[in-house]
Amino acid sequence: MALNDFNAALKFENSFAEQLDGLYAFATGDSAIQPELVKINHSLAQTLGLDSQRLSAEPETAQLLAAMLSGGTSPKGAKPLSQAYAGHQFGHLNHQLGDGRALLLGEVIDTEGCRKDIHLKGSGPTIFSRNGDGKATLGPVLREYLIAEAMHSLQVPTTRALAVVISGEKVMRSQLLTGAVLTRVASSHIRVGTFQYAASRNQTETTQRLADYCIARHYPKVKPKVKPEIKQADNCYLDFFRAVADKQALLIAKWMNIGFVHGVMNTDNTLICGETIDYGPCAFIDQYDPQAVFSSIDTQRRYAYQNQASIALWNLARLAETLLPLIAADEEQAITLINPILQDFTETYQQYWLAGMRLKLGIDNAEEDDLALANDLLQMMAKQQVDFTQLFRALAFAIQGETSLVRALFKDPQPFYIWQVSWSQRLARNTAPAFDAIAKMNAINPLYIPRNHKVEEALIAAEAGDLSLFEKLLSVVTDPYQPRDGFEEYEGPAPAKATRYVTYCGT
Ligand code: AMP
Ligand code: MG
Repeated sequence: MALNDFNAALKFENSFAEQLDGLYAFATGDSAIQPELVKINHSLAQTLGLDSQRLSAEPETAQLLAAMLSGGTSPKGAKPLSQAYAGHQFGHLNHQLGDGRALLLGEVIDTEGCRKDIHLKGSGPTIFSRNGDGKATLGPVLREYLIAEAMHSLQVPTTRALAVVISGEKVMRSQLLTGAVLTRVASSHIRVGTFQYAASRNQTETTQRLADYCIARHYPKVKPKVKPEIKQADNCYLDFFRAVADKQALLIAKWMNIGFVHGVMNTDNTLICGETIDYGPCAFIDQYDPQAVFSSIDTQRRYAYQNQASIALWNLARLAETLLPLIAADEEQAITLINPILQDFTETYQQYWLAGMRLKLGIDNAEEDDLALANDLLQMMAKQQVDFTQLFRALAFAIQGETSLVRALFKDPQPFYIWQVSWSQRLARNTAPAFDAIAKMNAINPLYIPRNHKVEEALIAAEAGDLSLFEKLLSVVTDPYQPRDGFEEYEGPAPAKATRYVTYCGT
């Protein structure tokens, strides 16, 4: 393939660069010593118009692809830049964060007509690096790849992983590790922290430009059937905020419904588009534990599993503060206008969460007592440390009278049997005539999640040069609902003796 053809492999646009002056610095990546493509997501590439099968099959173009996706060479049409943002980290505002080790190459319109950021992480230092080296290492990059793709397969809005390139250099962490660059695809990388960057500098014009950009890119309509276009609404910034809050409520509900702990819900890790971002210290719970925390630095349990909705609300309040000057000239009046949206958040979140729980329990209609039914089950699970993922799969068997799986998960199954009576009566009140509760439950309750010990096992092997366990785990977690022979070891938690699982930020 000629170089020209290669250069047209991705058709870049640069709307962020063109419209959001003041929120970025143009940047270049490090020339990787010996970039080598170790993983590419062909199905995602296809949606971006990138013929990765063909490009990675030929040594010459595979090399060009690796160089492009390490940040060393800038592809035609791209205008690489690092984004500026601020952010509350563990509750404390840092006015100046920004992409310390990342580049936005540009945007590509995918096959569904959606604008997607093509973003490199680990491509070298930028003006935002502070004391960091601008690098990333293979283990954490593969971890993000695995978990982001698992989340996508679990029907959770998320940034995606397109490729992993190893740079050919060693990177110093607690020891020398393999340097790597992740190519991330997102609906955008605009964060609550991006708004905070402009607002904390009193740059109201920039805040407004940013809000207008986000409305056009992410929220062109709010409930189109009952409302006019958001831009024509009485106060489009209030509607914009309401739409962002709604997306956050749905996102957190989805996390909770699958037992996901994000681990670092700082405002710079909260995307306006409502996708999950930053897979540094995240983990899935095994035994149901509302207090679950995995991150080594979250000693106060700020980002514990059960705190995620209230933290999302806190983060939204920080976004609301940045929008006040756009909502009304008088600050008090702006607060009065925006407060009801914040006050509605918890109820909206609860409704999304409960809708998810109904599906998990095979319920197809809404009754008032469903909340108590779901909470009673969770309380039992917490008390008896029942595996969250396995229990919901076991329930589908219990409907058919096979209770041995559920029984094995409870130390004392008696309370479950009592609960099961109410649940069976509730299922009998499903309304859709042909509703197949078992099929629906098995389409929403995963059999395979990225179990922490399996993730670690795969990453240790990968750092030693063997990607086979990574590939095997990836194939299971990206097809999470369908049982597969020979993959039983991926179904359960780590053996009971294992020590508490700990995750780390910024590796
Ligand atoms: P994170 O914990 O990944 O959300 O990152 C917080 C901030 O630290 C962001 O501004 C990152 O760009 C920056 N950062 C993290 N790791 C590095 C690194 N190795 N070099 C430079 N900046 C970094
Ligand atoms: Mg981050």
